Amino acid sequence: MTKTALVTGGTRGIGASVSISLKNAGYNVAATYNSNTEKANAFASEHGIEVFQWNVADSAACESGVKQVQDKIGSIDILINNAGISKASMAHKMSVEQWDDVIRTDLDSVFYMTRCVLEGMREKSFGRIITISSINGQKGEMGLINYSAAKAGVLGFTKALAQETARKNITVNAVAPGYIDTDILADASEDFLKSLVGKIPVGRLGTVEDVSRIVTFLASDDAGFITGSTITANGGQYFT
Ligand code: NDP
Repeated sequence: MTKTALVTGGTRGIGASVSISLKNAGYNVAATYNSNTEKANAFASEHGIEVFQWNVADSAACESGVKQVQDKIGSIDILINNAGISKASMAHKMSVEQWDDVIRTDLDSVFYMTRCVLEGMREKSFGRIITISSINGQKGEMGLINYSAAKAGVLGFTKALAQETARKNITVNAVAPGYIDTDILADASEDFLKSLVGKIPVGRLGTVEDVSRIVTFLASDDAGFITGSTITANGGQYFT
């Protein structure tokens, strides 16, 4: 039977590439988004992938959203926790709102989404849970204590949950990309991008496909012995 994958933030950037890659690999795919309906609808009609709107930082919205996907497409076999935001500020100037927004969207959401699909995966004795972390969750980045904390948090989540679910054939992994060319970098100045690329040994930013290929492999049956892992894709910028 065709497996169903749900990709949060699956209509733009890395998530869009993951949605397309999983569809090409033969899965039914549901892609979610938050507020950019125009982009999501364009993505849906271009790629024939169903899109759903809810805020992953809201646990009740995750519950009703997942139910909607399950009713329309099927119970979730593969969950990709990709949706994320970044709000930069030095720690001494960071507001509680900036902290909370990022922790809720990038960390709390991973629990909110996972809890909605775990029981179904346990019943089927199959599941794949893959979360997009970041190089900044591994090494930390100045101006991003909120983002670095959230992205480090999902690595702990991944290792702990992997132990709980292994016997049920549910693997739990994280991917930690370095700097990837998406809208997140759209406002960056040429100078900043030049100095950024200078710090990446392979001499370029990552592409969305550099990440989506890894996610698609981790989702496959071939990756059944990989769990609790973090796969890094950062062009050699940081080694763990
Ligand atoms: P983009 O900004 O290009 O896309 C983000 C996606 O997430 C959009 O679909 C957006 O929806 C959705 N989203 C954001 N907030 C919410 C929310 N509250 N509820 C539901 N959906 C939401 O991001 P990227 O593709 O660059 O990043 C994807 C993931 O990869 C993030 O977790 C990011 O932290 C991580 N990452 C990115 C790196 C990079 O260099 N780009 C490097 C390392 C990690 P909408 O379109 O409606 O706004």
